[in-house]
Amino acid sequence: MANPRHRHTPSRRDKRRANWFKVATPTFVECPECKEPKLPHRVCPNCGTYKGRKFLEVEE
Ligand SMILES: [Zn+2]
Repeated sequence: MANPRHRHTPSRRDKRRANWFKVATPTFVECPECKEPKLPHRVCPNCGTYKGRKFLEVEE
């Protein structure tokens, strides 16, 4: 069976874990319609548009 030969040092362990916090941080882009921050590749929850088309009815 493949097993780790040596225990990694705490600094090596921590360097590995330092990366996944970057992935867990949510990314936001500016909506081209209303300039609000929104998730990329998603319909904007503020104005309900994506790629210049309206997908959701938003109460004004
Ligand atoms: Zn918007």
